[in-house]
Amino acid sequence: MDCIALILAAGYSTRFNAEVPKQYMPINGLPLLRHVINAFLFNKHINGICVVINEEHQGMYSDAVKGLQLLPFAIGGQTRQCSARNGLTHLAAIGIKPRKVLIHDAARANISQGIITNVVLELERYDAVDVQLPVYDSVKRHINDRIAMVDRNGLFASQTPQGFRYAIISECHVMAEQNNASYTDDISLLATENTEARIGFVTGDPKNTKITTANDLEHKADIDIRIGLGYDIHRFSHESGYIKLGGIGIESLLLEAHSDGDVVLHALTDAILGAIGAGDIGNLFPDTDPALRGADSAIFVRRALDIAADYGYTVHNVDIVIIAQKPKIGLHRAAIRSNIAAILNIAADFVNIKATTAEGLGAIGREEGIAVNAVVLLKTAEPYKY
Ligand code: ZN
Repeated sequence: MDCIALILAAGYSTRFNAEVPKQYMPINGLPLLRHVINAFLFNKHINGICVVINEEHQGMYSDAVKGLQLLPFAIGGQTRQCSARNGLTHLAAIGIKPRKVLIHDAARANISQGIITNVVLELERYDAVDVQLPVYDSVKRHINDRIAMVDRNGLFASQTPQGFRYAIISECHVMAEQNNASYTDDISLLATENTEARIGFVTGDPKNTKITTANDLEHKADIDIRIGLGYDIHRFSHESGYIKLGGIGIESLLLEAHSDGDVVLHALTDAILGAIGAGDIGNLFPDTDPALRGADSAIFVRRALDIAADYGYTVHNVDIVIIAQKPKIGLHRAAIRSNIAAILNIAADFVNIKATTAEGLGAIGREEGIAVNAVVLLKTAEPYKY
């Protein structure tokens, strides 16, 4: 294997005010660690991933990485440096001696593909590659009760993944252990233990921060949208009158239903529930419930919106296709659109209503009923703050 990612996840995360260690905290439904691993799995320059974990976290780790193809994990040590060293020697112990290794802190969950790729590519020219961000803020140092200015010219903050020739960094870690020297990152260790090493750098990313408090979890840059699909069909009865489509009364043969039979709002409700993984309208509102006889179907949509809000989601846009030979929908389309926009509390141009016939084919074509497809996009209710 040419290039291995070593992910350091052995910390107890004492600064993190939570029962679960931060690397196992769920973000968008997946543990933080899994987001980090996914970033490296996705990158085609990485041939294998080894995670260094805390001995006491083995159960959480195997749950977090279920189904992923990873190298056997390594057990970390008391310090970050010790964990990195254990990871490097573990690779050799399992018979893997890569040419390159990237060492990454699990807490940097916002790692971008660009940084990973640039570090791997720069390792063709250097023995080690640092990820650096210039320091733009004013930097000061407290000296007793005085504040001294620090010249920020030439100052850089280091991020991870830091990249290394495997043989060189492994040797430096052994020397650092023998010298009893401690370092906060592997580039510092290498630069001190091997002054000959050629060190390159790639530019870091302000979003590639370490998550150190529960608050930072909100800063996860993952795209957070959910899509849902809903379908419903109702059969015509033999009586005529007014049916409801998207909450608008339309003259037609009546539809058989327990509620008001609004096939558009039922499909929409299912699309919202589908997007958040909350089942379907049938298990929320059983058609055996006498309280729902003739009910206004807008209450189903509103209930689905409430559930979505509980999960932190709100509707971005919807697209609906009504499939019917009759009644003619065209005249009512604008009214349906603005009524659905009002129920969803979004602008009408985020709602689209299409109508089509079934070209005389099948049950709909034989004018036996009306079917509806609805697709909805949900987004997080709170915008990300940077
Ligand atoms: Zn229905």
